[in-house]
Amino acid sequence: MLQTASLPAGDVESPYGEELEMYRETVRAFFRREVEPRVREFEEHGSDRAIWRKAGEYGILGATIPEEYGGAGAHRMAIMVAAEELGYAPSGATMGSFIGTDICTNFLVDHGTEEQKKAWFPGILTGDVIQAMALTEPESGSDATSIRTTAVRDGDDYVINGSKCFISNGSKADLIYAIVKTDPAAKGRGMSVILVPGDTPGVTRRRMITQGYKGGDTGEIFFDNVRVPVSNLLGEENKAMAMFIPTIGLDRMQIVARSVGAAQAAFELTVEHCRNRKIFGQRLVDFQNTQFMLAQMETEISVGRAYLDNLIRKMWAGTLTDADSSMAKIWLCELEFRTLDSCVQLWGGNGWMDENPISRMFTAARVQRIFAGATELMKSLLGRRYL
Ligand SMILES: Cc1cc2nc3c(=O)[nH]c(=O)nc-3n(C[C@H](O)[C@H](O)[C@H](O)COP(=O)(O)OP(=O)(O)OC[C@H]3O[C@@H](n4cnc5c(N)ncnc54)[C@H](O)[C@@H]3O)c2cc1C
Repeated sequence: MLQTASLPAGDVESPYGEELEMYRETVRAFFRREVEPRVREFEEHGSDRAIWRKAGEYGILGATIPEEYGGAGAHRMAIMVAAEELGYAPSGATMGSFIGTDICTNFLVDHGTEEQKKAWFPGILTGDVIQAMALTEPESGSDATSIRTTAVRDGDDYVINGSKCFISNGSKADLIYAIVKTDPAAKGRGMSVILVPGDTPGVTRRRMITQGYKGGDTGEIFFDNVRVPVSNLLGEENKAMAMFIPTIGLDRMQIVARSVGAAQAAFELTVEHCRNRKIFGQRLVDFQNTQFMLAQMETEISVGRAYLDNLIRKMWAGTLTDADSSMAKIWLCELEFRTLDSCVQLWGGNGWMDENPISRMFTAARVQRIFAGATELMKSLLGRRYL
């Protein structure tokens, strides 16, 4: 590895702190030893349940589950650490959101009943329970409060009807956090979160074909008169938006952490490539243009790293604002894309071939600017503050 502005690896100055740096080492080892060797297989056939169970064996799932339920009781910043590693591992670009949906676990930690926690935590920890957060619908993405899926009370049950799309782990999930309207007239104030086991009658799914993330799972979920007990309500009825507020910021931040991890990894891979590739009788790295491009990338990544570290410190202090996470979502995801675009240019035709990780990382970088709040949505949220 290069001696560059690389990701903190156990050093005391890491803004995550020593414990989470140890967690990082485990996540990194998991990707290197278990995912990377199988990446071709996952690209061709999709990922399988065995890799989730392996993640469970490594102890990297459900990190925020309290110790009394068998978890590590880690700070929720663990989600960010895992996301950085998902970005830093070239195989992460194949795996899609993968373990990133572990952010759902926080909903159960914060709002679950004792019964719900006991039912789901053990499987989340072992990797037997794959989770998915199902909010987006065909007619409702950025404008999340316009969702149309409803849950209507019928005796002791809710009856759910509607459909969701682009859901990470959607075609496989054993536990679906269905975001529904329980009071359709109230728009954002009429939304609830209902836990739907993936095998509930009336739930059907389809894995969507995506531009990248070939080993990932982005799915469509249909709810056709799906009946679940009222006890599957998570938290209070019509309070989904309030429950979401702490998670929205963390979700944006895990995406940007992934961007910084991916930009760093792409840069390192590209320096190696430029040292090895010979054209016109010299190494690609010997061209001044190449050196300038690499210097520009390294500078931008260093600035991005410093910016992210500062935001992590704000997260610890509880002072991270909505505006902070919106700006980070814009700038760091765009940084990743600029970096990957330059990297592909330096890889030439090889950068277009999916057998090289840089190609898959480029495609994965593209979606970072869209999900968890597109760049334009972030700008419009920031913009409201100027009126
Ligand atoms: C790979 C992948 C995984 C996903 N995983 C999940 C998941 O697990 N759960 C889930 O619920 N959803 C998930 N999503 C959905 C994701 O959150 C949405 O794609 C995102 O919110 C954007 O919604 P949309 O795709 O409907 O785009 P639209 O809402 O149709 O927006 C289209 C474009 O409009 C522009 N735009 C948006 N807002 C504004 C604005 N205010 N002003 C001007 N222009 C604007 C942006 O350029 C945006 O890209 C995932 C999506 C992808 C691609």
